[in-house]
Amino acid sequence: MATDLGTPIVLPADDSDRAVLLAAPRGYCAGVDRAVITVEKALDLYGAPVYVRKQIVHNRHVVATLEARGAIFVEELDEVPEGATVVFSAHGVSPEVHRQADERALKTIDATCPLVTKVHHEAKRFAGEDYDILLIGHAGHEEVEGTAGEAPGHIQLVQSPEDVAGVVVRDPSKVAWLSQTTLSVDETMATVAAIRERFPELLDPPSDDICYATQNRQLAVKEIARESDLVIVVGSGNSSNSVRLVEVALEAGARAAHRVDDATEIQQAWLEGVNTVSVTSGASVPEELVQGVLQFLAERGYPDARAVHSAEESLIFALPPELRRDLRAAQQG
Ligand code: SF4
Repeated sequence: MATDLGTPIVLPADDSDRAVLLAAPRGYCAGVDRAVITVEKALDLYGAPVYVRKQIVHNRHVVATLEARGAIFVEELDEVPEGATVVFSAHGVSPEVHRQADERALKTIDATCPLVTKVHHEAKRFAGEDYDILLIGHAGHEEVEGTAGEAPGHIQLVQSPEDVAGVVVRDPSKVAWLSQTTLSVDETMATVAAIRERFPELLDPPSDDICYATQNRQLAVKEIARESDLVIVVGSGNSSNSVRLVEVALEAGARAAHRVDDATEIQQAWLEGVNTVSVTSGASVPEELVQGVLQFLAERGYPDARAVHSAEESLIFALPPELRRDLRAAQQG
């Protein structure tokens, strides 16, 4: 048998041993869904171009699709003409970005995920009570920059348990922690344990900062990873939660795990001698890309996928209020 690339495929002795497991839940979360619909509706309502600060969600395909409809993605607000409409991405922005938008008289639509906004509120509250806040997250990630910008004088970044020894606080009895929403649950708990060892009076956030979608996708991939010769995670390289899914799959016992943007990135060699393939996707990934991977596997002799359900999700977020107001006005007018 040869592939369309002309590469021979090594089949296992017995094809009936093959299986494809599909994680559930996977793909779009409520915050991503809301952010993507926000840009689509803004384009319908105001017409192109609509500017978007940073990638609306961390997925190459989503960004390309919205670009084709007239969205213009920029890194910073000085690239947006004065008075134009700009959407803030699901990852959130700091108060300084809101200030810059006011200065340039931009019309803003804030598609920050409400679960990120919740972390911003926690940061403001802890800072208001004069706590030193240790923010567990990845340097340079947009969400971390937005959250840290809420209380720059109070927040310091901690990326791993190893960072904890170097933390300097004003009062060891007044330390709180927060986290990025898309981290590995297990790694974050290891970092929290290291912080608590140094600061026993450490104050926890009122509820989990790692969001339901991140937790559910990690749980789902753990369920299937231990039975898998190969786990394929669909998601872009700058998607924190997608990258974490690869790590979680390997830690849970998968023999191999790879992240791909889409089926074209799957390497034929990964399938050699592989019976059980598991497939999942990050929270910013459209389902059609997962279906493309399943199609790729089917064309190489793998059977239909069996969904393995580990949690049900039904959360939906309302669109940003400023967009709802304009949509209502357009309907009435
Ligand atoms: Fe919101 Fe979580 Fe989705 Fe991020 S991954 S957009 S925090 S629901």
